[in-house]
Amino acid sequence: MSGTATAVGQAPEHTAADTRLMVVGAGLAGCEAAWQAARLGVRVRLIDMKPKRLTAAHHSDDFAELVCSNSLGAASTENAKGLLKQELRELGSLVVRCADENRVPAGGALAVDRLRFSEAVTRAICADGNIEIECAEVGEIPAARPCVIATGPLTTDGLSANIRERLGSGSLYFFDAAAPIVALRSVDESRTFRASRYDKGGGDDYVNCPMTREEYQIFTDALVAAETAEQKDFEETKLFSGCMPVESIAKRGPDTLRFGPLKPKGLIDPVTGREPYAVVQLRQDDAEGRLYNLVGFQTRLRFGEQKRVFGLIPGLANAEFVRYGVMHRNTFLDSPRLLKADYAARREPKLFFAGQITGVEGYVESVSSGLVAGISAARGLLGLPAVQLPPETMTGALAKYVSSYAGADFQPMNANFGILAQPEQTEPLCATRRRLSKRERNRFYAERAIEAIRAFAARLE
Ligand SMILES: Cc1cc2nc3c(=O)[nH]c(=O)nc-3n(C[C@H](O)[C@H](O)[C@H](O)COP(=O)(O)OP(=O)(O)OC[C@H]3O[C@@H](n4cnc5c(N)ncnc54)[C@H](O)[C@@H]3O)c2cc1C
Repeated sequence: MSGTATAVGQAPEHTAADTRLMVVGAGLAGCEAAWQAARLGVRVRLIDMKPKRLTAAHHSDDFAELVCSNSLGAASTENAKGLLKQELRELGSLVVRCADENRVPAGGALAVDRLRFSEAVTRAICADGNIEIECAEVGEIPAARPCVIATGPLTTDGLSANIRERLGSGSLYFFDAAAPIVALRSVDESRTFRASRYDKGGGDDYVNCPMTREEYQIFTDALVAAETAEQKDFEETKLFSGCMPVESIAKRGPDTLRFGPLKPKGLIDPVTGREPYAVVQLRQDDAEGRLYNLVGFQTRLRFGEQKRVFGLIPGLANAEFVRYGVMHRNTFLDSPRLLKADYAARREPKLFFAGQITGVEGYVESVSSGLVAGISAARGLLGLPAVQLPPETMTGALAKYVSSYAGADFQPMNANFGILAQPEQTEPLCATRRRLSKRERNRFYAERAIEAIRAFAARLE
């Protein structure tokens, strides 16, 4: 890697006649954005502080570094992450191509030799005649210039402060304390009842999972003994009591959960006519009412442990977790308020964001937002009309989710079938009389998405 450096805190020099697209951050999203723009013939200036400065999670000098796992998730298109990768292949993604070329055996997953993968992306970026590379820590977004900010979940403090100045206070979150989300269709409704505490609001807004004393005991015993994820130094953030992991609350005493997030007050189980011993509440998470989050269940448990332990909650034995709970340092925008579905700032059409900073969660999701932002920014520079990905594609659904989530507590989202556009009543999925298996349903969604992405790619050509 080679390049020039500017002093920290300054906006990189960008003259009035400059028609280059500036991309800040050469991670997964930034590399994809730069590559897509360059492919369309736009000259790109890609800036990263590597190797002069590394975040607490980055260790290599190369671009597109995988900061943790070397897996890019399931390969099959019957899985949401697999479908997202296939869509990106159809759209000519550099990052997914390099992943395919550097694949290592990993069962049904696409895992890569992480060093060779990063080298391959870095080589392709460095060899591209339209991309100029610069090594600098950017502290300020240049005013009124076409720009993609893709500095990731560990964006430096200086740039974070500048983003807040530019987009308004409250534009950035710094900690991801998200509870798991389950697909409602996978909840056993014979074990749950609908009600709001003291019949407030709609009266039946929540799905309640009632527990007997024995069920509560088994659940809390498993919870306190469950394995938690390793914590990085930079994640040792002081937590507000409202953000305390559910397992930490449980460790404070046998009844703390019953007087906290699992309190049964004001909830009458229609089967017994009484308040249960404890209640886990599920709250609607999407406008369509297909996804529900476990209220107060922010957690550091390992993903496998979440499935096992939360599966002990009545009604959730076969729950499909579309997102697991997480607690880690994560800088991300209040995207529903700030961004459009092409990842451009609502207030500044030339300023784009890409990657984890937009509130998409995960390696491949970051690549997908980089691809959309890169194409959109380049089209803007070329005077071409804006494009929008179909909501029945995973790429389009993610963009739509982060830019239009209507709930009060926006949290990052990964690829999952629950966010795709609902099928029309006339489509085979609705027309069939029998109940489809999860596999059949996912296959339908995948085929529909791939058809839509091919049509979209043809229109782009
Ligand atoms: C510790 C950790 C572990 C994770 N593990 C996984 C996992 O296993 N699987 C998964 O799917 N997702 C994981 N994620 C989430 C996410 O998918 C990754 O963080 C992903 O790398 C995000 O891609 P990105 O392009 O948005 O950011 P990054 O890949 O982080 O790239 C951002 C780039 O911006 C540069 N940069 C930052 N600030 C500046 C600045 N001011 N000026 C110039 N350059 C700057 C950085 O040097 C970096 O190269 C993890 C996140 C974290 C923090």
